[in-house]
Amino acid sequence: MSSAIKVFHKAQALREWRSTLANKRVGFVPTMGALHQGHATLLKKARLECETSVLSIFVNPTQFGPNEDLAKYPRTLERDLEIAKECGVDAVFAPTPDEIYPQGYSTFVEETEISKPLCGRFRPGHFRGVTTVVLKLFNLVQPTLSYFGLKDAQQFFVLNQMARDLNLPAQIVGVPTVREPDGLAMSSRNSYLSPQARETAPALYRCLTNLRALLQAKAPLGPTLEKAREDLNQLGFKVQYLDCVCLPDFKTADGPLDDSRSWLIALAAHLEKTRLIDNVFLWPEKLKESGIRIAES
Ligand code: AMP
Repeated sequence: MSSAIKVFHKAQALREWRSTLANKRVGFVPTMGALHQGHATLLKKARLECETSVLSIFVNPTQFGPNEDLAKYPRTLERDLEIAKECGVDAVFAPTPDEIYPQGYSTFVEETEISKPLCGRFRPGHFRGVTTVVLKLFNLVQPTLSYFGLKDAQQFFVLNQMARDLNLPAQIVGVPTVREPDGLAMSSRNSYLSPQARETAPALYRCLTNLRALLQAKAPLGPTLEKAREDLNQLGFKVQYLDCVCLPDFKTADGPLDDSRSWLIALAAHLEKTRLIDNVFLWPEKLKESGIRIAES
């Protein structure tokens, strides 16, 4: 990177800078900050594929429910800027909530199918908050490509659907989940875990990879998922959901999985007070036919 990183807190200043970039390819990574190697992987992909890369850091209040962790969500801007510099980011947009949702704000965007099962069942309004803020950020940043982690697989598919339905010019790219050496998916929320819970947490990914092997070998779907839920609850998790859905439409799987399409096994579970999510894909290469782009890991 040749010049110093630019940090914008105001939408208008970001817009003015964006208008100077003319036909350059702009890669965009929206985040809520508290950056880790998962975010850094997205930023490096943007850097590699685009002449200019933009990071946004915004803990979006409209995607948090009333009893969720909005107030205690980690905010580490100084450290985030260091990581952004290391990843070659050109510009950071870090607005205040008032800048995004000024007094009298009243417009929301809602995807009405893919956003309903899995997390949508337990976090009403969450994806409406996500689609609204991402569309607003896209309007400001005007990305050529925008990168999202597959750790939040449902979010990725909801955003693909929004981009298609609303004719957004940005190409959405999914980036495989980055994991700790013991398999735990990296997450800003892992910092909430006690040392003991941190030791237990990798069981989620072990459970998912085990399920993937069983279901690929045509184990019966319902009983196999039920046994996995019970096993996790025995270990001290409180499983919210552990389901298998068809991709890209997120219809619930109800019979043996066939390899003519892609499937997602996804879970959300509480450990102590922390809500963790994770997932694995079966036959993700079949998604190419639906125009969904997943980057190499
Ligand atoms: P967040 O800051 O949690 O909203 O995440 C910002 C972006 O980083 C989203 O597209 C996430 O899916 C992605 N992300 C978060 N954790 C990971 C991870 N462990 N691996 C890959 N991408 C991730």
